[in-house]
This record gives sequence, C-alpha cells and structure tokens, in this order.
Amino acid sequence: MKTLSQLVFNNTYSELPTTFGTAVTPQPLSDPFLVSVNPQVAEMLELDPQETQTNFFVDVFTGNEELAGTAPLAMKYTGHQFGHYNPDLGDGRGLLLGEILTSTNAKWDIHLKGSGKTPYSRQGDGRAVLRSSIREYLGSAALNGLGIKTTHALALLGSTTLVSREKMERGATLIRVAESHLRFGHFEYFFYTHQHSELKLLADYLIKHHFPDLLTTESEQKDKQTASPNQHNNIYASMLTRIVELTAQLIAGWQSVGFAHGVMNTDNMSVLGLTFDYGPFGFLDDYNPGYICNHSDYSGRYAFNQQPSIALWNLSALGYALTPLIDKEDVDAILNRYHLTLQRDYSARMRNKLGLIEKREEDTVLFSSLFELLQSQMVDYTLFFRTLSSISATDLSMSALPNSIERFEDLFSCIQPLETWLKAYAVRLNFEKDGDESRLEWMKQHNPKYILRNYLAQQAIDKAEDGDFTMIDELVQVLSSPFDEHPEFNQFADKPPYWGKKLEISCSS
Ligand code: AMP
Ligand code: MG
Ligand code: MG
Repeated sequence: MKTLSQLVFNNTYSELPTTFGTAVTPQPLSDPFLVSVNPQVAEMLELDPQETQTNFFVDVFTGNEELAGTAPLAMKYTGHQFGHYNPDLGDGRGLLLGEILTSTNAKWDIHLKGSGKTPYSRQGDGRAVLRSSIREYLGSAALNGLGIKTTHALALLGSTTLVSREKMERGATLIRVAESHLRFGHFEYFFYTHQHSELKLLADYLIKHHFPDLLTTESEQKDKQTASPNQHNNIYASMLTRIVELTAQLIAGWQSVGFAHGVMNTDNMSVLGLTFDYGPFGFLDDYNPGYICNHSDYSGRYAFNQQPSIALWNLSALGYALTPLIDKEDVDAILNRYHLTLQRDYSARMRNKLGLIEKREEDTVLFSSLFELLQSQMVDYTLFFRTLSSISATDLSMSALPNSIERFEDLFSCIQPLETWLKAYAVRLNFEKDGDESRLEWMKQHNPKYILRNYLAQQAIDKAEDGDFTMIDELVQVLSSPFDEHPEFNQFADKPPYWGKKLEISCSS
C-alpha cells in the first residue's frame, strides 16, 4: 500500500501532441473536506486507506496542493448531443490529473471532476455540485457492484465554495478513476477537424494501451499470411469491432438490471464500454420500458427501451469518424454484428436471472409473457426477480402455490395472471439439469437485492447537504455487494415511497 507521494505516474496521454488537450491547473475550492472514500477503489490503486484521511489528500484533490508526478490536462473532444454535432466540447470542468501505474502494470486514469474552468468550459463555471457528485459517486459503486463495467469514484470532496445552479449549492470534486477516459467524441473531434494523422495517432494509442492483443493478432496474421483483403485485416477494423462488442455487452448489462443512463450523447460513450458520465441516470422501479429518467429529454430519445438502438446510432457516428482508417463497407459490416452480440449477451443475462440454463424453444414465449405481465401491472422489476430467486420447485407445486404467490402480494395488483405464468415457469423448470438449491443460489447471485433507487440517492443527498455523510458510506457498502444480504440495511431494499417514484432529475449538475 502506498502513500499519495509514492504513487507511480506515467502520463502517456499528456505526451501526445498539443492538439489532444490543454494543460490546466485545478482551481482551488474553499475550506475543503472529505465526504467519502470508496475503500475498494483505493485498494485497486494500491493506495493506503489511511492516506485518504489526511489533509494532503483533501488538498490535492480540491486544487489546493500539487501532487508531484501529475500533469493536469483538459482533454479535447467533441460529439453528438441529442443527435446534433457539437464541436465545442471537451473537459470543461474536469481534468485528467495523470495516469497511475500499479505494481501489476495496471494503468488507471485519475480524473478530477469539478476542478474549475478550462478552455472548453464555454459558458460553464467549471464546477460540480455536491448533489450530482454524490449521484455519480454512488452510481459508479452500484454499477460496479452489479458487475457492469463503469468508471469508478475514489472519493468525494466538499467545500464552502458556492456554485449557482437552480439554487446556490456547494461546490464539490469527484475523483474519477478509469482505465481510460477516451470517448467516441475524441475520435469525432479529429475527424470533423480533418486532422486525420492525429485520428490515426489516437487509434494507435488506444490499441497500444487498451487492446494490445490486437497487435499480436495482427503480427501473427502477417506471419501466417492468412489475411485476405476482404477480411478485416486492418487493425483499425479490429479496433472498431472490439468497441462494438464492448458497447453491446455494456448495453446488455444495463438492460438486464434496468439501468437508464439518460444522456447517451457520443461524448458520454466510452470506447472501453464503461458506463461513463453519470448525470440524470435512473434504475427502473416499476417495469416501464418507456421510462425516461432525464427530465430534460422531451422526446424520449434516451428512454430505457431506446438504449440498444441509440448505442448503435452512437457506434455508427464513431464508425463514420473512422472512415479515414477503415473502408466504409467494412464499417457497415462491423456495425451489423452489434445486434448479435447484444442479443447473445442480454439473453444470457436474462437466463441467469430466471435460472434457465438450458436453452429451449418455448423460452421466448416465457420471457415475453413475463415482460408483458410486469409491464401491465407496473411490477417492481428488481423485487420481482429477487422474490422469484427464493421460490423452489416445491414452492410451485399445486398445493404450495397459493402460499408462494403470497410472497409476491405486495408487487401485483391482480394475482391470477401471475399464477398462470408461475405454472408455466414450473413446467419449464423440469427441464433444468441442475438441482433446485444450486439454481436458487445462482439466481440470487444474478438478481440484486439492492439497487441505487433515485429515492435512496436523494435521501443520501438531503442528509449530506445537512452535513451528515453516513448514508453515503452505508450505500457504498451495500451497493458494492448488492447480491448479498445486508440485514442491518434491509430498508435499502424497500420499494420506493410515492414521492421517490416521482422525482424529476434534470441535467443540471
Ligand atoms: P455533460 O452534459 O456533463 O456530459 O457535459 C457536456 C459538456 O459540457 C462537456 O464538454 C462538459 O465539459 C461541459 N460542462 C458541463 N458542465 C459544465 C460546467 N459546469 N462548466 C463547464 N463546462 C461544463
Ligand atoms: Mg459528458
Ligand atoms: Mg456530465
């Protein structure tokens, strides 16, 4: 375990040409203090947890002290926002402080969000408020706990600096940690500004640092001379193929847990398939496929059930930006495979949720009738699957069924259609090879008891704004292992109160 000063920095991105970004010093926040640290993330960085409790830690990550080895850089990118190209984007309130190299050669970007103005701030103040920083802090812990790829958050820091949003709020910083902060929009920037050699340089950078296996595959192929001109023998085509796969896997993960991102602009899409840039995101409470979590998304472009097609739209925008490096026909062929990966991954995840490991033709009907049932009765998505994970085959026998149905009582307004579905499910379970006990254990490991419902985040925010940060720490603890029982925090698994379902989350952050 290291102290801050012992961390090893190897800042590869800041060594790229100056058109990739601008060196900027973080602007200090006043009277800074620590709000919360995520111990799992500290461990990932090999950072001594004691170190996070020091004034030096607080000062470094609120712009009040410099940490030797860092090379703060505002990254330039552009992107499509709500379908329209915006050339003026970039790190407008965040900085890539540097890249940490761990003892196992893992590379972690350390990004400081809320650190003041940069050349890409436009009209913005360069700040982040405590409210939205808490949401990102908890959101990333929750997705990680669910086994879905995401950026991480090491710590959250507060201050007395006032920041103007709908009302005056406290300024905060979030220490974001990720393998890379590269977005689709980084490639779009070089494409639309006709900097094609930089576009290639960026692609080479991404491959070298994040997809090095593609380099070995390429040299093996050259050795064997097997690559035919019509196969994607171009390494950039392999790179795009990888990004398409990672994105499809990410979306499958989101759809299976009921996560809505809310602002899937191409500048918020990670080339590593990480959940990136938490804004007005939300988890489904009731199963409502058309759920729009972003109050400013008037047309529902980023509604929950639009995410699979929007991700493909974004990938197409990326593919187009890569046409100086990849033939147009190859781009199309690569994009065409998106749905296959998404479908395969999503269906594997849903099978795990239902404990149906064998594949059978009738499953499609079983799935679609379940979704219809959940939607028509506005059933809580998470609680339904968690409850199902405690129902054994014996519980579904004719004599036991009425009692078992009672366990769903809180979730359904009309029991009869549930009974019909459970009977079909019971028949289907007969075809499973594994025993009941291991199936239920498996299901519990794939159906979380705890998700970050909007009302929980809001309660944590309200308390934090009154100076009490305990609920933030408690939520991080529970959400980091959401499949396990945490009897002391059973209340975090409750259905949302009425007000909690009606929360309106805007883009303002
Ligand atoms: P977002 O909506 O957070 O994905 O950000 C979109 C763009 O606006 C990015 O270029 C951000 O850097 C920039 N931005 C967002 N909030 C601020 C702010 N308070 N000050 C300066 N730039 C911002
Ligand atoms: Mg963004
Ligand atoms: Mg944002």
